[in-house]
Amino acid sequence: MKYIDEFRDPELARRLASAIAAEVDPSRDYRLMEFCGGHTHAIFRYGVQHLMPPNLRFIHGPGCPVCVLPMSRIDHAIALAVQHGVILCTYGDLMRVPASERRSLLKTKAEGADIRMVYSTQDVLRIARENPSRQVVFFAIGFETTTPPTAVAIKVARAEGLQNFSVFCNHVLTPSALRTILATAGPDGVQLDGILGPSHVSTLIGSRPYAFVPREYGLPVAIAGFEPLDVMQSALMLVRQLNSGRCEVENQYTRAVTEEGNRKAQALMAEVFKTRERFEWRGLGFLPHSALELADDYADLDAERRFPVTLGESREVKGCECPAILRGVKQPTDCKLFGTVCIPDNPMGSCMVSSEGACAAYWSYGRFRETPASRTAMA
Ligand code: SF4
Repeated sequence: MKYIDEFRDPELARRLASAIAAEVDPSRDYRLMEFCGGHTHAIFRYGVQHLMPPNLRFIHGPGCPVCVLPMSRIDHAIALAVQHGVILCTYGDLMRVPASERRSLLKTKAEGADIRMVYSTQDVLRIARENPSRQVVFFAIGFETTTPPTAVAIKVARAEGLQNFSVFCNHVLTPSALRTILATAGPDGVQLDGILGPSHVSTLIGSRPYAFVPREYGLPVAIAGFEPLDVMQSALMLVRQLNSGRCEVENQYTRAVTEEGNRKAQALMAEVFKTRERFEWRGLGFLPHSALELADDYADLDAERRFPVTLGESREVKGCECPAILRGVKQPTDCKLFGTVCIPDNPMGSCMVSSEGACAAYWSYGRFRETPASRTAMA
């Protein structure tokens, strides 16, 4: 399949692995953070880490939208469904994310709330049209990638005069999360030598917004596609930058990412949304200018304004290490609940829910069970 098979070619993977092994400096470490959960998924699915030399390590970043959503926002969504009796629509991954008091959207649905899983914003609009006497709220999440479809739905609802449609907006912005990770990096935080930049997000925002990383933090960036050879080639680009003392933003994912990004989508986002002053991220705390809410011209479609809720204090599951994992300072196997009480069928934290979550990736592909001897045997 075009653009798939050639980026999973075993012979090319072997050649890239040999090039990386030949070029790494054995006297130093290469600690490369892959920002996106999609990269984490590819690294585990294809065993990319095991193809790397021992001194090159991938560190998982906060780029999984389900994982970074704090529990308080799940509690808020449940309150919208329960306290106001709305039809709450959202994507499948969110249904099982643990909320306070061992609740979730799925359990709340089982208790009778009208919570529906959708595949697109078009589904939400259809549900609103089919249920004119009910209020329909779209629980919108995601980085810049999923924001334009929400903007389109809002504009369509406005154009059609859909009075029963609104959005509980939880769209978040990549650069501010990256800046927070880098600002707290160092001896007391995560130690990094380079960044694998996001794939899909960068198709939207372009490569330019990452210029602050080399300029202010002295770290090289390689924007990387999601296929295993993309990740390996990007790792090689970072190794070469580090070895030669260069520090810049390079773009490995040239088949989809340009310097300026998708201007049309950016204009749409700028029209429909505005930046929140602050927003809470799981693991990173309240970050300034890190998320979006509906712009003033569309404020009447903002579910937070339309449906005020009463919320208690949100309580994370005791022992869950998701916050530290999302900052890159711990690995899933550092969590005592990993693989004991917490597995994908019974997630205790958000990182075990989404396939892009680090805990789910560790568990699903079982790489943590492999030993150097078993890997040699498999090869
Ligand atoms: S294994 Fe489960 S409980 Fe532990 S950090 Fe991951 S999601 Fe949280």
